[in-house]
Amino acid sequence: MRVRRTSRRLADGREIIYFDDTPDAPARTAQDTRPLGERAAAGEIRYDALVGDWVAVAGHRSDRTFLPPKDECPLCPTGTGSVPSEVPERAYDVVVFENRFPSYAPVSSFHSDGHTDELHLSRPALGRCEVVCFTSDHESTFAALSASRARTVIDAWADRTTELGALPEVEQVFCFENRGQEIGVTLHHPHGQIYAYPYVPQRSADLLQRAREHYDRTGRLLGADILAAELHTKERIVVDTEHWTAYVPFAARWPVEVHLAPRRDVPDLPSLTDEERDDLAQVYLDLLGRLDRYYVGKDDTPIRMPYIAGWHQAPAKQGRDVSRLHLQVMSVLRSPKKLKYLAGSESGVGGWVNDIPPERVAARLREVAR
Ligand SMILES: [Zn+2]
Repeated sequence: MRVRRTSRRLADGREIIYFDDTPDAPARTAQDTRPLGERAAAGEIRYDALVGDWVAVAGHRSDRTFLPPKDECPLCPTGTGSVPSEVPERAYDVVVFENRFPSYAPVSSFHSDGHTDELHLSRPALGRCEVVCFTSDHESTFAALSASRARTVIDAWADRTTELGALPEVEQVFCFENRGQEIGVTLHHPHGQIYAYPYVPQRSADLLQRAREHYDRTGRLLGADILAAELHTKERIVVDTEHWTAYVPFAARWPVEVHLAPRRDVPDLPSLTDEERDDLAQVYLDLLGRLDRYYVGKDDTPIRMPYIAGWHQAPAKQGRDVSRLHLQVMSVLRSPKKLKYLAGSESGVGGWVNDIPPERVAARLREVAR
């Protein structure tokens, strides 16, 4: 086994899982001694009858930790700062734990109090929200990880997809990273999140419906056909390896947007082979490196690209036959100093306007290859 997995409990009963790839890493036995009290319960999800989608309403989340000083970072190992953190161990490689301020949790404070008519449907926000710390190094970034450590993160994502997807209440597992204050990050420590939703969120549902329609009409996977078309025209291809292809989508919505898809038809991260995971670690690090060289400031200093990176995989309980795994990386940075805001057209009616042709983005991402 290249990764050793250790599951423990935090003081309030939340699960913490260590994924260690360092040979002879010490056993993870440290106790969480903080007086945490009871774990936070999730709130409710409410059905938006106007558009047919659910919204999680979680009042307690407004009290969550916001950009603490490094000394009080809850994601650094305990013992490195002035207060005990969320990770009781003195060191770790990759660690995953249940979010202390979850939108979705195994327990909910919600009790139905009569809001049961079809215009006011609500349900407990059951599910799980997890934090993934990519490294114990507070100052690092995903792009600075070694390929071996990136591979451990991929294994952690796959592990969590399998385990969370098997929970009876979970319909969709989404692994993602928000990077940069421009995206609304509330902790600087390099980390991502995993949401296990009790319903199929709207974009996931849209992807599934389109994939199903295409399959019914042609007998082929939509994701595979799109990849083949991009490989044929080549102009939006960014990088192409033995197992993975990165391309800027034909109808990109964001000023910088890249999709990364496997060559083989797979529905989700757990389905990837060892070789595909090793190759993914390399190609994803390559891609993130290019994003950080995409814009340069004065004196050619590179500008760290704020981004959202999220894995689209088959829903947990349906659609595995037509879904095809892909990563979507997107940024709101439309020039070295200007952000794209999701303003009237996008936020109001979902009418996207992109000022930057996707072909130009692909050319720039090829130009900044190492
Ligand atoms: Zn930290």
